Amino acid sequence: MDADVTVIGAGVVGLAVAATLADGKSGIYILEKNESHGRGTSSRNSEVIHAGLYYPPGSLKARLCVEGREMLYEICKKHALPHRKTGKLLIAASEREREKIEQLYRNALQNGVESVSLLEEREVRALEPNIKAFAALYSPETGILSAHSLMDYFLHTAKERGAEIVYHTLVIGVEGMAGGYRITTVNAQGEYFAFTSERVVNAAGLQSDVVARMVGKHYLLHYCKGDYFSIDGAKRGMVGRLVYPVPEENHVGLGVHLTLDLAGRMRLGPDAAYTERVEDYRVAGEKADMFYASAARFLPFLRREDIIPDMSGIRPKLQARGEGFRDFLISEDMPGFVNLVGIESPGLTAAPAIARFVKNILTC
Ligand SMILES: Cc1cc2nc3c(=O)[nH]c(=O)nc-3n(C[C@H](O)[C@H](O)[C@H](O)COP(=O)(O)OP(=O)(O)OC[C@H]3O[C@@H](n4cnc5c(N)ncnc54)[C@H](O)[C@@H]3O)c2cc1C
Repeated sequence: MDADVTVIGAGVVGLAVAATLADGKSGIYILEKNESHGRGTSSRNSEVIHAGLYYPPGSLKARLCVEGREMLYEICKKHALPHRKTGKLLIAASEREREKIEQLYRNALQNGVESVSLLEEREVRALEPNIKAFAALYSPETGILSAHSLMDYFLHTAKERGAEIVYHTLVIGVEGMAGGYRITTVNAQGEYFAFTSERVVNAAGLQSDVVARMVGKHYLLHYCKGDYFSIDGAKRGMVGRLVYPVPEENHVGLGVHLTLDLAGRMRLGPDAAYTERVEDYRVAGEKADMFYASAARFLPFLRREDIIPDMSGIRPKLQARGEGFRDFLISEDMPGFVNLVGIESPGLTAAPAIARFVKNILTC
């Protein structure tokens, strides 16, 4: 065999997997179709380290989010990666929503997120005087990080342990053969190249169902886009924590929320809209009124003219429009071939735990 392990996709998940599997002895290759790593969903998200409040107890999303969050804080601390434990308020904007945050509180406890608490209006005001809420679920463990710094760290670690990354390399075919897989690729010049690999990890994000189909597994991803609007810099500092509304029904999205980046910039988003299967990242400016109306419920200082279109990301969802919750799919579908499909949020938070999970599958 030419390679011991081939990882398809250099997003945060593929890079974490490569860093975790690399041991200085095995031949590990990361294949990436783009000119650089982290150009997909991993650089188009809220960069939030989620605590694990929302996901059904016992799901992979719940378990790997909680484990991944702990691992991320450790990695960030140990390697001085930019991050901040901002804390998060999930607010009830009306008395009617109080019941929902109480449900989420119980859910969080079941998921092992013990640091959460329920706050009354005056307690919320004491923490964040500029937001409006009847009550809130407070999650002090939620934070933010630089997704790019994290990906650079995983790539550096993978390379240090002997892995190699190859850019401009699109995987177009995978065929099972005795003792492994034959992988066919095409580069930016249109040149074909084939090699063999004993094991393969499919971490191709929005294209992971296409790659799975190459070995006969028929998963179908649905694209669900999230737009962001940025808030005028003059409002910087008005809020110090992440502020989320009660999430949408059926786990489609978390509701238009207020995120902060490490420089203190405030953003609203993402919303959740199922789209055609195209990677079109234009932001629909006409949504500004909707974003403003959603956010003004809990950010009374916001003016319509404060928000401008910013960026967008696309969720790779196994959950079709109108369906209920779907978990991450992490499955060794053929001997030594692991598919990672539907790795939407909290995939950034869960990345190191997903990598450890994959390592356990491949080394058992
Ligand atoms: C709007 C939005 C907000 C989010 N916010 C958060 C958040 O705050 N916190 C959180 O934890 N998670 C969040 N997420 C989820 C998180 O961003 C993803 O789960 C994570 O980035 C997925 O990483 P990935 O490596 O699986 O995919 P990607 O980053 O998409 O990487 C896949 C890579 O595979 C490559 N590729 C695809 N096909 C091929 C092929 N055939 N050959 C070679 N290469 C290929 C692509 O070019 C790409 O680089 C959010 C997601 C979205 C969309």
